[in-house]
Amino acid sequence: MIDRGCKSKLKGPTPFCRAQRIQNIDVSVNVQISEIAAAKKASGEDVIALSAGEPDFPTPDFVIAAAHDAARAGKTTYPPTAGTPELRSAVAAEASVAPENIVISTGAKQVIANAILATVNPGDEVIMPTPCWTSYADIVALAGGVPVMINCPMADGFKLKPAALDAAITPKTRWIILNSPCNPSGAVYAAEEFAALAGVLRRHAQVWVLSDEIYDHLSYVPFSSFVDAAPDLLDRTLVVNGVSKAWAMTGWRLGWGVGPEGLIKAMTVVQGQLTSGASSISQAAALGALRGDRTLLADRRQEFRRRRDFVVARLNEMPGVFCASPQGAFYVFPNIEKAFTRAEVYNDTEFCKWLLREVGVAIVPGVAFGMPGHARISFAYSERSLDDALSRIAHALQQ
Ligand code: PLP
Repeated sequence: MIDRGCKSKLKGPTPFCRAQRIQNIDVSVNVQISEIAAAKKASGEDVIALSAGEPDFPTPDFVIAAAHDAARAGKTTYPPTAGTPELRSAVAAEASVAPENIVISTGAKQVIANAILATVNPGDEVIMPTPCWTSYADIVALAGGVPVMINCPMADGFKLKPAALDAAITPKTRWIILNSPCNPSGAVYAAEEFAALAGVLRRHAQVWVLSDEIYDHLSYVPFSSFVDAAPDLLDRTLVVNGVSKAWAMTGWRLGWGVGPEGLIKAMTVVQGQLTSGASSISQAAALGALRGDRTLLADRRQEFRRRRDFVVARLNEMPGVFCASPQGAFYVFPNIEKAFTRAEVYNDTEFCKWLLREVGVAIVPGVAFGMPGHARISFAYSERSLDDALSRIAHALQQ
């Protein structure tokens, strides 16, 4: 028998071979908080979690019917690695490109991971305006790259300014990741704001743009895609999108990338070795979503907007809480620094732990998104839950 290293064989938690590439990576803080809240709930505690990043609506019936039909029709074998021809064509038609410019993956997250793994060498830099979605930095680190976070404070609408972008670019910069509408800040870039950033990027041909548009249908102001603002940069832009948020399909794990054929091919190579093609049933479901009636998207957006206004107004009544009204997505990202009024609550993480302990409300500390002093509250919950949770937070702060 040959046994080199890795002697633990499940006898205990340590030691085991933790590769260097995951040395500084862990399960994301929001997943951790959601799991702690779920465990407390399961053990009978009265907990309201406003920490999840998914809509509370069900997947539409016509989408479920499309999946059911596909399963019944025997679409249960390995699909092509880059996606079924039908879904690639449907996504291509939406984006006015060819099917060769499309790759279908297991969620938008895998699209991003494939792109980074396919292009980033150790030491390459990836710029991300911060606050940003927790996984960007971890995915870049997984590839051996260096996340370069540019602080974009609330006073700037949480948006990147061209001068700050210019100052952050070096010969090692490989990508900039833009996310509009943004998780967690809800910032939405206007076409002119994207055009101003594109003006800087034109001078740096080595920098590619990853435009994460997963919340595009959840914009409360007119939505602009980066490619519409800078069509001349199409040959170095990857747009990431999917059905998770707009169609309430987070569990179906289905997303896509739209980009230059060479990049799409390289991403398909990575995907081919990691997971193969995305679930054939989920691809059929996504096709059903794209072909289906879209009035429901507008109805849901309207409902989210109502909840946003309710949550923002309530938060701004609380002592020490300052909340801007987000222009998109379903999160608010208030500044809570002035609410750190007790010795044990000295930062955003301790604040969130304290809230969970004292009044059973789970929210995510801003540090998870690269911006301490804030917290992310999802309003993808019923108005009753939101009302109850906000009353509890207000009560805790008044004590
Ligand atoms: N991008 C952003 C900004 C997100 O918030 C998320 C999920 O929370 C994703 C990508 C991943 O989407 P998916 O569930 O389709 O992998």
